[in-house]
Amino acid sequence: MQTRLKQVIYVSEKTDAPSNILTDIYDISQKNNSESGISGCLLIGSSSYLQLLEGPESAVENLYSKIKVDSRHKKVKKVFEQHIEEKLFSTWSMKFATFNNVEWGNKDFDAGNFQNINSANAMKVFQTIKEIINR
Ligand code: FAD
Repeated sequence: MQTRLKQVIYVSEKTDAPSNILTDIYDISQKNNSESGISGCLLIGSSSYLQLLEGPESAVENLYSKIKVDSRHKKVKKVFEQHIEEKLFSTWSMKFATFNNVEWGNKDFDAGNFQNINSANAMKVFQTIKEIINR
């Protein structure tokens, strides 16, 4: 039976963790995600993270359950999930993007505070990142 692919987007709040946490998260993401067939993008905002995870359903759910209890961030909230036929970021184990480097018109994101983002806007953010990268 073919493995179903799933996409999950969550938002979380940054904590006062040391600045090197992103290097640690980047390193473990590259290793784990490529092993489990996960790809995606982590958007680093001023006060929050917005991450899209995609890959085999069980791998995505397993990773999300680990991320949810990771003390390096808090208030982890799923904003969107769907089954997909194709990945959006198939070539990236995990793309890290800072909010300031992303050019988009929607100013509702309050300089990278995504806490109140809705599912449609969350998906739009990642589609915009993908378009920018493909230019
Ligand atoms: P482990 O051996 O359990 O841990 C790997 C390393 O991370 C170790 O060096 C350990 O010391 C350190 N670590 C683990 N948990 C913590 C913690 N709570 N506080 C401080 N250090 C810790 N993981 C991925 O695999 N892919 C992702 O895309 C991904 N994205 C993340 C995005 C965010 C915003 C955050 C906060 C975490 C993310 N993580 C991601 C990390 C994830 O939460 C788990 O820590 C990781 O998946 C555990 O991997 P492991 O079981 O293989 O390794």
